[in-house]
Amino acid sequence: MSVTLSPQNELQLQNPGIVLNCPHCQTLSHLTFAAAPKFEELSRQKPERIGMVFRCDACGEPVFLKFTAKAYSPEKIDLAAAYIEVERARESFPLTYLPKEAEALFKEALSCYSAGCFNAFGAMSRLTAQSLFRELGERGKLQLFDTLQQIKDLGELDDESFGTFRTVLFGSDADPWPHQPHMDAERAGILLEVMRDLLYQTFVRKARLMQALTFRRFVAPPQLESG
Ligand SMILES: [Zn+2]
Repeated sequence: MSVTLSPQNELQLQNPGIVLNCPHCQTLSHLTFAAAPKFEELSRQKPERIGMVFRCDACGEPVFLKFTAKAYSPEKIDLAAAYIEVERARESFPLTYLPKEAEALFKEALSCYSAGCFNAFGAMSRLTAQSLFRELGERGKLQLFDTLQQIKDLGELDDESFGTFRTVLFGSDADPWPHQPHMDAERAGILLEVMRDLLYQTFVRKARLMQALTFRRFVAPPQLESG
């Protein structure tokens, strides 16, 4: 995708433009360009990065993005297609279903991810897993490993990605350095979905099912209404 800013301060984007998870309304939304610094001002100062304001089409709130300038010319400013989100959408998870210690650790992991600190997210995910192994014992650890294997099959993860996540979550701190694989945005994004599914399968699904069954037993009428 090529992105350019014209001397009339118009931002030219290829379709579909910019679509992201809005940090305000949390929906996947298209952004409409609202404002950039003045073209003449930019041409004079030639900053490496240019901050711009967009408007979320879903909620109308402003969203700030930073673009890297690739080339300045009198006709246009070429910008790199990859942008940096100044504010990222907060990642959420029904944390109350987790054991207390794991709840606090995974909450911090989600904050790291939302802040774009991907290696910190990897490290906190590992701590969350270690806390769960202590809580659930050796049998619980094996069950978690089975669940991870199921996620691999279900999500059709390749062996390399699976190996990375297995090392992050099940590796030992006594392993030779570096005992944690490097996390970039893409790996961290997949790890986030893996963690969510792992924790959901292990804690949330059962707890919600038990709640629903209890509700049916005690609240719902004993017979279905006819009609
Ligand atoms: Zn929005």
